[in-house]
Amino acid sequence: MKNIKLANKLDQLLDIHHFKDYCPNGLQIEGVQEVKKIITGVTASQALIDIAIEQHADAILVHHGYFWKGEKQEIVGMKYKRIKALIDHGINLYAYHLPLDVHPELGNNAQLGKLLQIIDRRPLEPWDKRSVGRVGKFSQALSGAQLSQRIETLLARTPLHIDGGKKEILSVAWCTGGGQDYISIAAEQGIDAFISGEISERTVHIAREMGIHYYAAGHHASERYGVQALGRWIETELGLDVAFIDIDNPV
Ligand SMILES: [Zn+2]
Repeated sequence: MKNIKLANKLDQLLDIHHFKDYCPNGLQIEGVQEVKKIITGVTASQALIDIAIEQHADAILVHHGYFWKGEKQEIVGMKYKRIKALIDHGINLYAYHLPLDVHPELGNNAQLGKLLQIIDRRPLEPWDKRSVGRVGKFSQALSGAQLSQRIETLLARTPLHIDGGKKEILSVAWCTGGGQDYISIAAEQGIDAFISGEISERTVHIAREMGIHYYAAGHHASERYGVQALGRWIETELGLDVAFIDIDNPV
């Protein structure tokens, strides 16, 4: 498939033009025209690029690409090395940030909710069409420790649990990655537990004082699933060769 055509298909699928984001979504760096093999990952790090080169991929597809708002604009140092490696090897870089967090089926949040066996999943802020956070419930009440164990088993990573005091957890809200500040919205709605990727110092006090269990499941760990779902969509719908590479990241 032609690289631009693939970009158009994904842009449309993920509805990128309706998002105000911190980075450009879509084809960020152009490579060869014909895309057959795609490597997917959470972040377009040098390690991921090196594997894509080794495996003769025509494209990399990630959640965290480049050109973030506020970052230095100069193409020097680490940024130069990454971009040079991509261009030297003709590798297209596709990146989808918020659109891949929010997509109702393929998004990071939709996929994490499904993985954690949360039912009745819906937007945390129903008044916002592009609400990143989601809310739902468990089919049976869990204790704080049981939910911790479930996250650990399903994400293969021990979460940091801040006990909010409630004995039973039935309702749960979540936002992958750096979504910790949605905890206040969840607490205001009386939800029993909130899960995000990263945690801030303030999150602990909010959890304790507002009486909501909080779990930091890992930014990387909680955002591995959207890009994999998108990869499966590309394989099935577009017939391209897609492989997900998990570059370990403890954060
Ligand atoms: Zn993220």
